[in-house]
Amino acid sequence: MKFRAMFKTPDVIEDALKDAFDHEASPCCCGGWDGEGKKCPSCECNGNCIDCELAEDRLRDKTDEARKMTEKFVAHGEYVTIEFCTDTNTATVVEKGK
Ligand SMILES: [Zn+2]
Ligand SMILES: [Zn+2]
Repeated sequence: MKFRAMFKTPDVIEDALKDAFDHEASPCCCGGWDGEGKKCPSCECNGNCIDCELAEDRLRDKTDEARKMTEKFVAHGEYVTIEFCTDTNTATVVEKGK
């Protein structure tokens, strides 16, 4: 037997993306700082050089791509439909419009 259920979870995607963004290595011209704090202490530029800005742009692009990917499954950033199948014991997220 198959049936679908729609879940509404406001803002959870944005929160998750923010978390993922925060847990990425801080963008820095040296290739990323993975330690405490958001500014890399080992670079003299202190996060202010053009390469650091480009690194930060790349991280933002990655987050935007992640958001776009979720839009395939999550309507308006908050509705998701899960199809349960008791024959296969699975639960599958249904792509939007399918
Ligand atoms: Zn730099
Ligand atoms: Zn650095």
